[in-house]
Amino acid sequence: SLADLSETPLALETLRRHPCYNEEAHRYFARIHLPVAPACNIQCHYCNRKFDCVNESRPGVVSELLTPEQAASKTYGVAAQLMQLSVVGIAGPGDPLANAEATFDTFRRVRETVKDVIFCLSTNGLTLIRHIDRIVELGISHVTITINAVDPVVGSRIYGWVYDEGKRYAGEEAARLLIDRQLAGLKMLASRGVLCKVNSVLIPEVNDAHLPEVARVVKEHGAVLHNIMPLIIAPGSRYEQEGMRAPRPRLVRQLQEQCAEAGAVIMRHCRQCRADAIGLLGEDRNQDFTWENIA
Ligand code: SF4
Ligand code: SF4
Repeated sequence: SLADLSETPLALETLRRHPCYNEEAHRYFARIHLPVAPACNIQCHYCNRKFDCVNESRPGVVSELLTPEQAASKTYGVAAQLMQLSVVGIAGPGDPLANAEATFDTFRRVRETVKDVIFCLSTNGLTLIRHIDRIVELGISHVTITINAVDPVVGSRIYGWVYDEGKRYAGEEAARLLIDRQLAGLKMLASRGVLCKVNSVLIPEVNDAHLPEVARVVKEHGAVLHNIMPLIIAPGSRYEQEGMRAPRPRLVRQLQEQCAEAGAVIMRHCRQCRADAIGLLGEDRNQDFTWENIA
């Protein structure tokens, strides 16, 4: 519940206005996702690079990329028209921290022109530990990390490879590196007072039975909110080729219950928004905010 979250160092006032962290707020406050981050440093088996990252969005759609400059002026234009705009987030279409310069440059530019908005970032977490100071300095108060497994054996069935500092890892070695980095990054951010949410993609027969363990471990590392997202398989992805299926809603609800029993505060209203979504959750007003409209 919100009461549980408000025990964290971040002010209740900030929390109140983030539609993803507070189910009540999602009816009144709007967010904009800025698609400035095309590259990615890992390969998830449910992803196809032609589409958006599922860290925080819906695969199978393609967001129009913006430069940091365009993103900042778009935010300025949207903020002037959309009074309920409370959150500016970067969620893709690849991994925001695999495009760290564009991501941080965008936040810096937005901070200069738009006052009083919450900054939010989602990432696969591979390089998080290298960016902690910058995240804190820029006032990015909410970070989402997609953690689908805390066991490298399970992880090796989800990730094809991981690329870090010029080296490509595969199999369990790749999964172990990613998991270690995710948990280390989560712990460091949480200790600096950043509100961390974990997204886990529920992949039937791969990580479903493992998710309560993920819930327990991420909570222990400081996550305040856990979002169990049903797998959406991108066309052309490895999972699609293997004939993998999305989970039934009943399984999703069941796992949400089990993760709650493991101690997690569960988010149940995630809409799996696009990397370029604008408006209230569940609403996408991107088409209302074309360059002509906000100029
Ligand atoms: Fe695709 Fe995974 Fe990279 Fe997101 S983190 S862009 S889902 S490979
Ligand atoms: Fe919020 Fe989920 Fe949409 Fe992200 S994808 S902005 S967590 S509703």
